[in-house]
Order: sequence, then C-alpha cells, then structure tokens
Amino acid sequence: MAVARDGGQMPAHVHVVGAGVAGLVAALALARGGHAVTLHEAAPVAGGRCRALPDGTDNGTHALMGANHAALRFLDAIGARAGWVEPEPDGLPMLDLADGSARRIAAAPLAWRDPARRPPGLTAGGMLALLGMALPFTDKPVAAALARHPALLRGFVEPLAVAALNTPVAEASSARLGQVLRRVRSAADARLLVARDGLGPDLIAPALAALRAAGAEIRFGSRLRALTSAEDRAMALHLAEESVALGAADAVVLALPPWEAARLIPGLRVPDRHAPILNLHFAHPGAPAVRFIGVVGGLTQWVLVRPAGISVTVSAADAETEERVEDLAPRAWAEIRRAAAAFALPGDWPDAPPPCRAVKERRATPRHAVGIAPIAPRLVMRNLALAGDWTWTGLPATIEAAARSGEAAAKAIAARLPRPVALGRAGA
Ligand SMILES: Cc1cc2nc3c(=O)[nH]c(=O)nc-3n(C[C@H](O)[C@H](O)[C@H](O)COP(=O)(O)OP(=O)(O)OC[C@H]3O[C@@H](n4cnc5c(N)ncnc54)[C@H](O)[C@@H]3O)c2cc1C
Repeated sequence: MAVARDGGQMPAHVHVVGAGVAGLVAALALARGGHAVTLHEAAPVAGGRCRALPDGTDNGTHALMGANHAALRFLDAIGARAGWVEPEPDGLPMLDLADGSARRIAAAPLAWRDPARRPPGLTAGGMLALLGMALPFTDKPVAAALARHPALLRGFVEPLAVAALNTPVAEASSARLGQVLRRVRSAADARLLVARDGLGPDLIAPALAALRAAGAEIRFGSRLRALTSAEDRAMALHLAEESVALGAADAVVLALPPWEAARLIPGLRVPDRHAPILNLHFAHPGAPAVRFIGVVGGLTQWVLVRPAGISVTVSAADAETEERVEDLAPRAWAEIRRAAAAFALPGDWPDAPPPCRAVKERRATPRHAVGIAPIAPRLVMRNLALAGDWTWTGLPATIEAAARSGEAAAKAIAARLPRPVALGRAGA
C-alpha cells in the first residue's frame, strides 16, 4: 500500500472514463471525497449525449422534472441550479393539430381535480388504466395498456411516453413508463425544467469548473481503446496516446454508452437496440421568455422557445431521421406557427421558416420495449465499476438515470479505496 511522507495513505487514483453526465457525477463525487481523479473523454468536449455543439447549440432539448433528485443534486453541487427554469408553471400547453384544441395539462395527478387542467379523455376507467401502469405488476405495450382510452392515449400518455422512453407506444413498455409515473406524485415532482441558456453554460461548463476546483484532471481526446485485466482486477488502461498501469489501490469507473462498455468488457450484456431523436434548431432569436409547448398529430412533438432560438424535438424518430432538413423544416415551422398562435406567443412568426439546423442522434437512448432489460453489475471487477444511463434500470435512460448511476458507481468504488490522507486526518 502506498504511504505518504507524513505516514498517511497516498490517495488512490481513480480513472473515470467518459465525461457524459454519469462520468461527470462520478468524477465529482470521488474528487470531492478526496481521491485523485482523472477523467478521460474520447471527444474534444464533455457532455456526451447531453452536450453543446461547437456553435453553442444544444445537441437536443433536455428537460428535467422536479422528481429527478439526483440530477438536481448535481446541479446544486456544481452551482448551476439557477440556470434551470420552469417555463410552464401553470401546466403544459398542448396543441392538437387535428382539431386545433389547445389546453394546459397538469402533469401531477392531484392537480387533475381542476377539470381545466385534466388530460383530454380522462375518465374513471382511464384513471384506473394509468394506476395499473404505475403499479409494477404487468408489462405490455403502452398503446395496448391504453387501448380502451384512445383520447387519453393520444392527448397525454403518448406524448409523455414517447418523450420519457424514446420508443413508439406500440412497442414501449408500460412497466418502464410506470417507473416514471410512480415518481410524479406531487406538484413539485411534476415541475418541468429546462436550461435557460443551454447545456453548455447551464450544465457542462459549471461541471468542468467544479471538477477542476476539486482537483480533478480532465483529458479530452483520451479514448479508452482497451483495458487489461487479471484476477478480477483492471490492471492497465490503453488510452489514445498512452497506456496507464494501475497501482494496487487504483480504480476505474467506466461511464460509457452500452456499445462501448460491451466492446471493452467481453461477455457484458447490454441493451443493443437504440432509438433516434431528431432536433430541429431554428434561428429565431429574441423571445422574451422561455416556453415549452407540446404538439400532437404532426411532426413536432415539443417546441422549446428560448431567447437564443427555437428547438423542435422529435423522439422515437425512426422515420424522420431519414428525411432531409429541407423537407422537415417547413413542416415543423408551420406547426410552430400554429402553436405560437394557439398560445399567443409574442413576436414575429413569418411564413417562411428561418434558417434551420437538424441534429440527428441515431443512438440517443436504448429502446424501452416490453421485456426485461439486461441488468449490468455495478462492480464488474474488484476495482472497476460501471456507470451510464443504461446501467440504472430503475428508470428509463435519462439524465436522472445517468446521474444516479454515477453516484452509485462512485460510492461502490469509494467503499473499496483507502481513506484519503486529508479525510483521515480530519477524522483523526
Ligand atoms: C437528443 C437527445 C435528447 C434527450 N433528451 C433528454 C431529456 O429531455 N431528458 C433526459 O433526462 N434525458 C434526455 N436524453 C437522454 C440523456 O441525454 C442521456 O440519458 C444521458 O446524457 C446519458 O449520459 P451518460 O453519461 O450515461 O452517457 P453518454 O452521454 O453517452 O456519455 C458517455 C461519454 O463517454 C464518451 N466515450 C465513449 N466511448 C469512449 C471511450 N472509449 N473512451 C473515452 N470516452 C468515451 C462519450 O464521448 C461520452 O461523452 C436525451 C438524449 C438525446 C441524445
């Protein structure tokens, strides 16, 4: 065991691989716990599937809910909580393009006592069907679970399920949706939050600053090519430009997407079917307030209006990701204009679409279909833990799942590390 000159134990070195949300959370927890941390990221930027593009645009709209306690804990830990704002405190504005009906729907069931904020088509039978999904006893496609309540499915459950599970309702698992429904009990749980200025300033930059302040080293362009293991321990990391031999007390957190974890750890079972998300970002700056509007019955599913521009999200976009932006933009813009009119958004809404950029994330999340997802062990070797949204099977693959997995991986590794010098002294 390494011993410091003053007789305390040398801090163990932890290599966190992957600077997505899971890796950022794990690295910060370990660095603040007094461990020496190096965060290796293959890309030139952090954030992974939740990142800012080089021009500052988000790769895609990311929303959190009040029930996402681990994600909010992380925002608090990095001092970024104030950047996440609640655009629609009075209920989600939802426009149905088929009949032009526009309403505000509360996400918290208790608020449905007010008929004005109820989902369309909510009957006593529909309420029972929702309750049935929230109980962890059955698993069937969401569309089948709501087959007798088509208005409720169309106007409320389908938009929610497609957003949360990134899977079409004909295949999406009612049990996975139930994991989300069970967490949304109070009005506080149901609060929807978005980054006011974008993922760069409101998540990634403060996370990197907090990590550096905690003493972590961050290496970009540091792709883990392979790892060597023996006797149930990771022995060496083979990175883009160097190989690092691990000391007896050193440890690793692999916070990677499933396909990379499977490539590096033979025999690991991971989700292998993924679903795309399409985002269309329109250059339409100047909105006075952040707004978030749901649209049913068209291409557009959610419209995020921010001072910097307007973003449209299309989840479970199997067909749409194959289309050209020249074809997608006019359709989405026409729908945005209808939403702007329905909810009296201020500003100019010209006929012609403003410049539009499409971001297609082809492996945005695993598909959450009916059936049991592969369950990855947290500790794969004595000194190697896994993190990543797909490893937290208590929730669909989301920021919250990634944050929880990062916390759990850091805890599992910290429990096996020698106590750092500073903490040892403080406790002495
Ligand atoms: C367009 C889009 C919209 C979304 N919307 C929402 C939303 O509204 N709400 C929500 O909660 N979730 C949303 N999600 C899901 C959310 O982004 C993910 O669940 C979360 O970001 C996953 O984080 P992660 O750390 O587990 O994985 P990742 O973000 O995939 O991080 C893994 C990191 O590892 C790096 N890496 C890969 N291979 C290597 C290697 N060999 N060596 C070193 N580094 C490597 C990658 O570059 C990446 O930075 C959305 C996802 C997308 C794509």
